[in-house]
Amino acid sequence: MKELETILRDRVLAQGPIPVADFMAECLLNPRFGYYTTRDPLGAAGDFTTAPEISQMFGELLGLSLAQAWLDQGAPAPFTLAELGPGRGTLMSDILRATRTIPGFHDAARIWLVEASSTLREAQKTTLATHAIEWVEHADALPDHPIFLVANEFFDALPIRQFIRQGNGWAERCIGLDNGQFAFVTAPPTPESTLSHRLPDTRDGDLVEVSPDAPIIARTIGEKIEAHGGAALIIDYGDWRSLGDTLQALHRHETSNPLEKLGESDLTAHVDFEVLAMASPSAHTRLTPQGVFLERLGIAQRAEALAAHLDGEGLQSHIAAHRRLTHPAEMGTLFKVLGLYPKSATPPPGLEP
Ligand code: SAH
Repeated sequence: MKELETILRDRVLAQGPIPVADFMAECLLNPRFGYYTTRDPLGAAGDFTTAPEISQMFGELLGLSLAQAWLDQGAPAPFTLAELGPGRGTLMSDILRATRTIPGFHDAARIWLVEASSTLREAQKTTLATHAIEWVEHADALPDHPIFLVANEFFDALPIRQFIRQGNGWAERCIGLDNGQFAFVTAPPTPESTLSHRLPDTRDGDLVEVSPDAPIIARTIGEKIEAHGGAALIIDYGDWRSLGDTLQALHRHETSNPLEKLGESDLTAHVDFEVLAMASPSAHTRLTPQGVFLERLGIAQRAEALAAHLDGEGLQSHIAAHRRLTHPAEMGTLFKVLGLYPKSATPPPGLEP
């Protein structure tokens, strides 16, 4: 998008090379030209797809896990049923359908969605038209109630900074201009005390990524859970610690150059789950691969029950969707689940303490 290119070029010309996070934030959420602000990026006609868009089973099982955690904590009422970055609203809609028959759950639930994009808010309004919903732009505006929350592929969309180790210092990888084109450039190294925990597991020349917003959001959610009760299921691609350059651009389901097609491709990075777990004052679970998590919650039985009503192409695509969510060669291992829960409670089902 030409407008976004001009905005970013002017910025680099005025202030010099900028952190990857600043570039990413502008590309994704510029109020007029940002990627999420201007479109619904999901589905076959978009740029990428996500687990809830692949199969209803994903949201149904997440919903049952949250509802069991709610029952285990004494069915507090009222409570906040929240989602960070709800996309088209599909996941929340599946959660609500799966939990309809759990006595008291819907009566006690107040639904809150944290969404920055007004275009996607409209899509969520349509999908969830039969429910009363509140929207906020930031997690810290969620009410102080028990909170049961999901976030699928939300943290991977948060801007990251990149640092290359040089001795015991860290040189930030920034974005500048080379012959008028955006290019990666490396700033001089600085001590970066926030990265001292990465000195033991990295070597000279290694690249690590840091999301400035991720720990702030995790702390906010964890504080609410610890103070009022609740649980969070955070699902994303990544690992306990990230190492190396994972910045990725997707345009029409193909990887593309993150410095091109600005505002027209999705930019994400692997999630560093350790940072989320450490920032939260609540208890956290171990990291569970998505495939294992869904198997433990009974996806095989649910898949069989749904298959009984399908045949032909519908059945084939249902079988493919089950495989895609759980198989190690597809999303089963790359995607992980982290649970946050009160220190005095048991973790949500599907996860190990
Ligand atoms: N969870 C959905 C969509 C994932 S796409 C799914 O699984 O299908 C990422 C979502 O996060 C989008 O809804 C996007 O608009 C939202 N988002 C990205 N950055 C955000 C931010 N900083 N604050 C709030 N929402 C954000």
